[in-house]
Amino acid sequence: MPLPLEEAFDYAVPEGMEVAAGDHVCAPLGSRQAHGVVLSVSPREGVNRPLKPLQARLDEPSLPPGTLEFVGWAAKYSADAPGCALSIALKGLRAPRPRPERKVAVTGAEPGKLTDARLRVLEVAREKGPLGAAPLARAAGVGAAVVKSLVEEGALHWVAVEKPASFPAPDLSRPGAVLNASQATAAEALRALVGGQDGRGGPTSSALSLGISGAGEDRRRAESSGFAVALLDGVTGSGKTEVYLEAVAAALEADPGAQVLVLLPEIALTQAVLARFKERFGVQPAEWHSAVSGTKRRRVWEAVATGRARIVVGARSALFLPFLKLRLIVVDEEHDSSYKQEEGFIYHARDFAVARGKIEGAAVVLASATPSLETLRNAEAGRYRWLKLGARHGAAVMPEVSLIDLRETPPERGRWLSPPLVESMVETLGWGEQVLLFLNRRGYAPVVLCTACGEKLTAPDTDSWLVEHRYTGRLVCHLTGFSMPKPERCPHCGATGGLTSIGPGVERVEEEVRERFPEARTAIFSSDTVFGAEQARAMVERMAAGGIDVMVATQAAAKGHNFPKLTLVGVVDADLGLRGGDLRAGERTFQLLAQASGRAGRAERPGRALLQTWMPEHSVMQALVTGDREAFLNAEMFERQAAGLPPFGRLAALIASGPDPEALERYVGALAAATPEAEGVEVYGPADAPLGLVRGRRRKRFLVRADRTVDLQGFVNAWRARVKAPGSVRLTVDIDPYSFL
Ligand code: ADP
Repeated sequence: MPLPLEEAFDYAVPEGMEVAAGDHVCAPLGSRQAHGVVLSVSPREGVNRPLKPLQARLDEPSLPPGTLEFVGWAAKYSADAPGCALSIALKGLRAPRPRPERKVAVTGAEPGKLTDARLRVLEVAREKGPLGAAPLARAAGVGAAVVKSLVEEGALHWVAVEKPASFPAPDLSRPGAVLNASQATAAEALRALVGGQDGRGGPTSSALSLGISGAGEDRRRAESSGFAVALLDGVTGSGKTEVYLEAVAAALEADPGAQVLVLLPEIALTQAVLARFKERFGVQPAEWHSAVSGTKRRRVWEAVATGRARIVVGARSALFLPFLKLRLIVVDEEHDSSYKQEEGFIYHARDFAVARGKIEGAAVVLASATPSLETLRNAEAGRYRWLKLGARHGAAVMPEVSLIDLRETPPERGRWLSPPLVESMVETLGWGEQVLLFLNRRGYAPVVLCTACGEKLTAPDTDSWLVEHRYTGRLVCHLTGFSMPKPERCPHCGATGGLTSIGPGVERVEEEVRERFPEARTAIFSSDTVFGAEQARAMVERMAAGGIDVMVATQAAAKGHNFPKLTLVGVVDADLGLRGGDLRAGERTFQLLAQASGRAGRAERPGRALLQTWMPEHSVMQALVTGDREAFLNAEMFERQAAGLPPFGRLAALIASGPDPEALERYVGALAAATPEAEGVEVYGPADAPLGLVRGRRRKRFLVRADRTVDLQGFVNAWRARVKAPGSVRLTVDIDPYSFL
C-alpha cells in the first residue's frame, strides 16, 4: 500500500477474482478500504492464519515487474518504508481521470420513420463511429434536431468516450545533425551500447556498488545484458545533447516497443530540450514534472504503463514511472544537486537511474560538463564507459574566464557591481550583445537587520533569516515558505525606521543595473519571478531572441540554455557557495560557476566570464581561470580519499526532530548509547543541526561514515531498531546526504 507501513500484508484472493503481481486492488486496512498493489500471488497451502479477502481488483494499468522491483529496491536503499517509494510510483494515478466525452452512436434499432436526412445521419454514424451530436449533424448536412429525434426514438444513443491521449510515434527517419568527428565517435559508442553490440555484460553490469539483490532474479538475468553505463563528458556547448539524441534514436530503432527516459534537473530546462526532441523526432515527448498537472499527469502515467509513450522527458520523479520496456535512461547535467530529493522519500535520481537501468537491463547515459566525483570515480575505475567530447561545436570557443579581486576593486558602498564589471558591461552592451549577471540568491536582500537593536529578523518557528522580497513586499523564509509583510517597527525593540536590508539578492542587483543602465532592457530570472514551465520558456525565448539586454539570474537560468548573443557573464558573488563549507562546497561551486560561465559565447561571438571574488587564490577560482579541471578534481579526490569520504567511503545522516527539547534530548542520548560497534564505521554526534529549529521542531543530527564494503543500510536499520522513538520525535534517515543542515 502506498502508505508509510513497514511491510506488505497478506490477503486472500476471493473465489472468482483473478489477480497477478502488479495489479491494483482494494483491500481492507483496519476499518477502511485502501488502494494497494499486488506484490506476488502464492497458493493458499501452508497459510494457517485467517486472511482477510481482497475487496476488488481495480481497473488500472498494472505496474510492470521492473517497476515493482525498482520500488522495492529503492525503499531498501533509502532505508525507508516500501509504501513511501510506491507512493511516488503511483503519483499519476492520484491525478483525476480525463472526463469522458458524450457522443452518439448507432444502436442498431430502426427509427419509426426513415427520411433521407435520418438515413444520412445513420450512415455517417455507422461509418465514423461515435461522434459528438453537433459534428455528426454537420457531417451529415442536417440540423441538430434530426440527431436529437433519432436519439429519442432509440436509433442512436449517448455513449461516454474517453479521449485517447495522443502520444504519436517518433519519426525515426528524420536525419540527425551532421556530427563533428569527436561527436561522431561518442555517438557511435553510444549507439553500440544501446544497440547491444558493445558493453553487454561488460564490467559495468557486475561491478556496481548499488547492491541490487532480491526477487526477480531470472528476469533480471535475461534482461541485464542490455545494462551498461556511459559518462558523456564534454564542455558546455560541445554537443552532448546532439550526441545523446543519437543514442535515443538508436534505442527506439532497435525495438519498436522500446521506451526512453531523459531526466533533467530543472523544469526551466525541459522546454528547450522538448523543442530539440520535437525537431529531431517530429513529435513532442511526454513530459513529467511538478508543473504537469491533473488529467495530463494521469494520461502520461497511463501512456507510459501501456507503452504508448516512447520518449519521456522529466524531473527526478519520472524515474518511478511504470515503464513497460525501458531501454535507455539519459541523466542530463548528472552532477546537479537538484537530483537529490531531500524531503519525504529521500533519494538521488542519478544513482537511482543507474539502479533502475540495471533492473530493466537498460543503458544509462550520464551527461555533464562537470561530472560529479562519484561518477568520475566510476569512470576512472572502468565501471562506466567514458566518452569525451573535445571542444565546443563549430566556431564557438570557450569563454575567457577572469577574476575580479574585490580586495583591489570593490564596488562602492551599497553597490554590488565592481568597476571592472561595470566597464565590461558598458562595452558589451555597446556592441549590442547581452549580459547575464549570475547570483544564486533569490529576493532582494538575504538579511534584514534592525540598526537600533542589532537583531536579524528570523521566522517565528525556524532558525533561518527572513529574506526580503521587494517584488512582493514581503519577508520570506526560504526553508518553510513562511512569509509576512515587512513590518514598520522592529519586532524585537519596537524601533521604527531602523530595519535595513543587508546584502544583495537578484532583485537588488537588478535595481542597480536599472540605475546604472536606464536604457537597457533588464529581467530577473528566478523561481520567484518566473512561474512554471510556460513562463520559463517565454523568458528563455525572449533572451534567446535578443529581447533582453541584461538578465539577472539565479541558477534557474545558469544551466543548459543557449543564448547566441550572450557574450558576458558576470558572477556577482563567486564565493557564495564556499561559505558554510560542507563536503561538496568546492566541487559544487566549481560546477555551478563553470555552468554559469559556460553560458557566454555559445555561438560565433567569443564570450567572457568575470568572477567577483574575495579569494582569488582559492583552488576553485584558479581552476576556473586556468580551465584545468583535472588538477582541481585530482586535489578534491585526494582529500576525499584521505578522509574516507564519498566517493571513497559512504555517509548517512540521521536527523531526529521534535517539538519537545527534553524528549528529543533523551531520545538522541539513548540512541547514542545504543550505537552498535561495527568495523569500518564511525558515528559522529549527536550535534545540534545547523538549522536547529524548523517549523517549531528542534533538530539533532548524527553522521555515520562507513567504508564502502560496509552494509550501511543494515547498520542504520539495526541501530534505530534498538531505541523506540517517542511519539513526538521523528527520525529521518538520509543515505548519501548532500545537505548537512
Ligand atoms: P551541450 O549539451 O554539450 O551543452 P548542445 O548539444 O546544446 O551542447 O550544443 C550546443 C549548440 O551547438 C546547440 O545550439 C547545438 O544545436 C549546436 N550543435 C552542437 N553540435 C552540432 C552539430 N553537430 N551540428 C549543428 N549544430 C550543433
